[in-house]
Amino acid sequence: MTSTQPIVIVGGGLVGASLAIALDHAGLPAILVEAAAPRVDDQPSYDERNLALARATVNGLAAIGVWEFAEANATPIKHIHTSRAGDFGSVRMDAAAEGVDALGWTLPARELGAALLRRLDRCRLLTRLAPARVERIEAVDGGWSVTVSSDGDTRLISTPLLVGADGTQSGIRSQLGIGTREHDYEQALFVSTMIPERDPRGRAFERFTDEGPVAVLPLADRRVGVVLTVAAAEADTVAAMDDVTFAAFAQERFGWRLGRLSRPGKRSPYPIRRVAADSLIAPRAVLVGNAAQTVHPIGAQGFNLGLRDALTLAELVTVAADPGTPALLAEYATRRAADREGTMAMSHGLVRLACLKQPLLGPLRSLAMLALDRVPPLRHALSRRGMGFRLHAPLAVREKTP
Ligand SMILES: Cc1cc2nc3c(=O)[nH]c(=O)nc-3n(C[C@H](O)[C@H](O)[C@H](O)COP(=O)(O)OP(=O)(O)OC[C@H]3O[C@@H](n4cnc5c(N)ncnc54)[C@H](O)[C@@H]3O)c2cc1C
Repeated sequence: MTSTQPIVIVGGGLVGASLAIALDHAGLPAILVEAAAPRVDDQPSYDERNLALARATVNGLAAIGVWEFAEANATPIKHIHTSRAGDFGSVRMDAAAEGVDALGWTLPARELGAALLRRLDRCRLLTRLAPARVERIEAVDGGWSVTVSSDGDTRLISTPLLVGADGTQSGIRSQLGIGTREHDYEQALFVSTMIPERDPRGRAFERFTDEGPVAVLPLADRRVGVVLTVAAAEADTVAAMDDVTFAAFAQERFGWRLGRLSRPGKRSPYPIRRVAADSLIAPRAVLVGNAAQTVHPIGAQGFNLGLRDALTLAELVTVAADPGTPALLAEYATRRAADREGTMAMSHGLVRLACLKQPLLGPLRSLAMLALDRVPPLRHALSRRGMGFRLHAPLAVREKTP
């Protein structure tokens, strides 16, 4: 069976699903091919990780009709506190000081996944194949022929625009011949929830230590989400800890700003690699989300960045007669370049610089933190970045002024 579709999206994770919804919202037909069945429990990235969503991201999700399904489970971030163990000074960002009700929101990925699935069910022009896998792609005149297998059946779909939204190990990226630059942080990340003695009251914390960064995010029901980075060699030991030992370990790394941390929830370890595609585009093909760039999760940028990829692409193809022309794809790559490079550099640089043990760096880092905290224009610029606002950001994520 062969059919033609104006846009084929490979991968219905957080970013691919968002793109499919944005296209449908804009009145464009497309097909979304996802290997997992359309259930939260089956989708690998709709899991227990707690996402920090920047304000701009929530604007974007609201614009495409997803946020109304997620909002009830989200917790506003009113204040962000960043510090480094052993250095003096800290950087504080505050929603009220920026004149907004929240700098961002936290939301478990499974709740965002559930909201995306509910919104996908309402799409009218979108065709969904799930569970279904793209097995092969072949360049043909004017686009790609995509081989999809599902339930023992194979079908061919031809398209003038192929979108790789198939995650960090993107098969589409390698079949397009796009190489990657990779960095293994030799770290593992543990994600869990805990109950702090003191109510976080909308405060999120990022703390850098010699052993790696730790983030604590406010969640519903007075819980916090804890994201703990450990050296890869330590991962098995941390995974084997009982709850009391893990709570003490997290406490030692995070400190006592919220009093005693107790009752850790389910603990999930993740390996950490930075993977950056050498190019975002190939003839009549484009990469979005983790397939384009996978960053260190501690900066909480991966989905925020990927959504800006998706919404930028949706914005460009909405006004184009042919969605896969070289000019359109070049425009996509140009519009994404500064945000992509800047966000990747910041996530990478932050983790490396903030965790380096070099004693001479301590006073410099402290001075930098003091400057960022005490010089209002610097702090304002940092807060705007933290809220996800960037030059050339897609229209959907911008702040609506009444
Ligand atoms: C612990 C942790 C915490 C994080 N915290 C944050 C945070 O606070 N804020 C933030 O913005 N980001 C965060 N991130 C990053 C964020 O989760 C990712 O950037 C995001 O999930 C990437 O989505 P994606 O759709 O690009 O890729 P994925 O979620 O990996 O989805 C790819 C999809 O493609 C499908 N697929 C693959 N191959 C095929 C094929 N051949 N055919 C069909 N389907 C295919 C897969 O089944 C999968 O569903 C975090 C990540 C981790 C690990």
